[in-house]
Amino acid sequence: MSESPVMRPDLDLERFRSLLEDERDRLLLVERDLLESSRQSKDSLEGFSDSDDVPADIAAQASEREKEQLMGRSVQQALTAIAYALERFDDGTFGICEMCGCDIPELRLERIPWAATCVDCQNMLEEG
Ligand SMILES: [Zn+2]
Repeated sequence: MSESPVMRPDLDLERFRSLLEDERDRLLLVERDLLESSRQSKDSLEGFSDSDDVPADIAAQASEREKEQLMGRSVQQALTAIAYALERFDDGTFGICEMCGCDIPELRLERIPWAATCVDCQNMLEEG
């Protein structure tokens, strides 16, 4: 009666949850800084997907202004993905690919704790 079914008993869920919470807290600080330094209109979340890309690579090539815009959008995307991932702990579906229902490999979750799909499905999404 107390706990919801966990679909990935093989994972150290508490560790992943705290990874996500730490990352969320870090991103909230980044977001606050960005909002303070540039009050530009928000980019929409169009084309949002559970991106594998950490903003660093892209950002390194962009000008300062572009970098801020990219960062702001990436941060919001990441925060959305993290919030979603945290919800999935509550219904026990964390670590389950939401497209095909397979187990997302732990290695992928180590790299991207907020991943909501397996690599195959992610590739399909990106290729359209
Ligand atoms: Zn899948």
